[in-house]
Amino acid sequence: MSEKWEQIESLIEKYPDLPPEAIFKEDLLTKGISFSEDALRVASGFKPKAYFIFSFDLVPIEEMKHRENLRAPEEICLVGGQRDFRRIIVSVRLNPNSPYQVAISDEGEPVLRLEEEEVAGVQFQKTPECYHRTLGNGKPIADIAPTIEWGYLLYLTVFRICQYFGSQQECQFCDINRNYRQQKKSGRPYTGVKTVEEIIEALEIINSTDSDSHAYTVTGGSITSKLNEKSEVDFYLQYPEAIEKRFPGRWIGKLVVQALAKEEVRRFRDVGVQIYHPNYEVWDRKLFEIICPGKADYIGRDEWIQRILDAGDVFGPSQVIPNFVAGIEMARPFGFKTVSEAIESTSEGLNFFMSHGIMPRFTTWCPEPLTVLGKQNPEGAPLEYHVQMLRTWRDTHEKYKLAPPSGYGRPGIGNAVFSVSAFMDVIRSGSCGSDSHDSPKIEMGKVGSENLGRKRES
Ligand code: SF4
Repeated sequence: MSEKWEQIESLIEKYPDLPPEAIFKEDLLTKGISFSEDALRVASGFKPKAYFIFSFDLVPIEEMKHRENLRAPEEICLVGGQRDFRRIIVSVRLNPNSPYQVAISDEGEPVLRLEEEEVAGVQFQKTPECYHRTLGNGKPIADIAPTIEWGYLLYLTVFRICQYFGSQQECQFCDINRNYRQQKKSGRPYTGVKTVEEIIEALEIINSTDSDSHAYTVTGGSITSKLNEKSEVDFYLQYPEAIEKRFPGRWIGKLVVQALAKEEVRRFRDVGVQIYHPNYEVWDRKLFEIICPGKADYIGRDEWIQRILDAGDVFGPSQVIPNFVAGIEMARPFGFKTVSEAIESTSEGLNFFMSHGIMPRFTTWCPEPLTVLGKQNPEGAPLEYHVQMLRTWRDTHEKYKLAPPSGYGRPGIGNAVFSVSAFMDVIRSGSCGSDSHDSPKIEMGKVGSENLGRKRES
């Protein structure tokens, strides 16, 4: 058995309380996936990767000799095969040098292999009807309102650039600005600032052709000065406001922007946003300042954390879902040297937030080569770290008896669709509220103290 297979098998044996599928998923998200030419040919007939915000690839586009950036799918579904995988959805992070490859078997079926040995069967997602349509101005839906999470989430990156600019300000794991430049250079239609009219027109098409989507996320880069003469709040507010006016309650409205002051957060709630993601990225104080220099300078860690708690009063703590990027706390040269130190630090953050009813969640770090941390750490964080993080998140979530996060669809292995980490896959059946299925009209969790008895104005 190769060293790689031995590592995976020993982790599966060491952590029998985790689904093996989730262990493979974390490894795939860190190491990326390559595609054989045959698999690319098949995959290109299915829903393509839309580059919904970052590159989420392990190589830049200019190193993709087979034009994988145009032909690979957004996500793959691993199912069946020799290990009898339960269905699990994995975001495609391209890496032609990955030990994992999607290929076509002798029977003509797509399969995932690790070093030539089969891991599981692979399914691709059908291209949604709306992807065949364009707006009146010719822009494709995949540019304006792509879907991810196997169709569950409409991802509306309305501003594809961040005003934290350059290595002194940008978050050190983020390639939003460089990815924007490489996509434009590659010729992909890639709108930097989407208008409200474009978003509404795209949603009209989606609304009339699609029944899979249950939520939308409005997001984009931070605005430190003005954009189109609008502040960050005024700029981002116009989108959910228009969406909820035109399609009241049709989707669960989510917002990913910086940690805002309470009175600003209220404005989003009042137009109909239901879930707020003020992402804190990394818990450790020193690392936050090094890895997120712009956020540390403009807002500061203590204020950021206080604003997350304050937002709980507005939306309800369970509707405040700040993300952290799992693994960056181990990035050289400043990160923790051992898995146990990293887990201990991040666990402190999880306990802090979850003890307040806030619902931190994580995405698995993709060490993109266009970022400062990715350049220095092309191998990412160790798989043992990611596996322990899954358990730590799950166990802390169970310890505080929290319901599964709202706005993510059904939890648990075989059900979950969140594709950029396995945190939804490891929620156990029977844990608090895990058998519920959220929808735009039924939300789980407590309401905020400010929200009691309040009606949405939309
Ligand atoms: S705030 Fe940080 S993570 Fe967010 S877009 Fe800007 S640089 Fe990227």
